[in-house]
Amino acid sequence: MRRHRCLYAGWLTALCIVIFCCTGKNAYAQPPLFNESRAWEYLEAQCDMGPRVPGSSAHRQCLDYLVSELGKYADNVQKQPFLGMNPVSKQTYNLTNIIGSFRAERSRRILLCAHWDSRPWADQDPNPANRLTPVMGANDGASGVAVLLEISRCLSLADPGIGVDIVFFDGEDMGRAGRLEEYCQGSGWYAKNLSFPLPEAAVLLDMIGDADLHIPQELYSRMSCPDLLNEIYLVAAEMGESAFDPSPGLPVYDDHVPLIYEGIQAVDLIDFEYEYWHTVNDFPENCSAESLGTVGRVLLKWLFQRGGRP
Ligand SMILES: [Zn+2]
Repeated sequence: MRRHRCLYAGWLTALCIVIFCCTGKNAYAQPPLFNESRAWEYLEAQCDMGPRVPGSSAHRQCLDYLVSELGKYADNVQKQPFLGMNPVSKQTYNLTNIIGSFRAERSRRILLCAHWDSRPWADQDPNPANRLTPVMGANDGASGVAVLLEISRCLSLADPGIGVDIVFFDGEDMGRAGRLEEYCQGSGWYAKNLSFPLPEAAVLLDMIGDADLHIPQELYSRMSCPDLLNEIYLVAAEMGESAFDPSPGLPVYDDHVPLIYEGIQAVDLIDFEYEYWHTVNDFPENCSAESLGTVGRVLLKWLFQRGGRP
């Protein structure tokens, strides 16, 4: 009996070792669970400060908040200062891109990004009286940042096998309608001052919190980087995430475009059918934790698959 027990214990140990070795080999390929409730808290925390319009106290407060939150998870966080301009008031502002690096020593890198500023004017609001009011930016700004903060937490728990830089761009939404050159001030500065090694792929999240989520393939991304875009949509399809629709969407001049101009493979995941875009109603109640979860899970899965490639 005693011998049997020893034999049994021996087999059990061997079995455990085999299981550990088998799963251990794939452990790096399995991303941690993306917690959409936590992502939602990050969205609400930004909105609780008010519209993060450059020059406002909410903007200053949010800068400190994002540096502090990202600092909890990233190996290092850097602030990249630049001078931005409000083209209506002609006032210049000290703006800041926030860069959190994970495993900075690695030469293979992925860039994940979103803008953190809010638009100064709700110029698409149906009520003309609201069109000089700042936009809260729950979806247009806070949603992408919220997902990337939760991904940062996940990256502190498991290694995707590749270096990652998470960048929050400032001054994305400070352009007048139709004046493309006035938008994307932070990504423009970042793209002109790229540090090496360059990322092998960049994914931008913008307006991905819409409660009625639908993400067709943004057209600049589809035309410039179809392979990268299809890679992400394939992961979404495998996961059964039908909000990712592989049909062509509109072209959106967004923070990925300055990166593409500099030769980076960059795509924009964006739901541009948001009813409250650039209105005073871009509030959390028109967004949902489920939408943040959908995008977060797909992006995290893709990142770990991509990082696991030789
Ligand atoms: Zn916007």
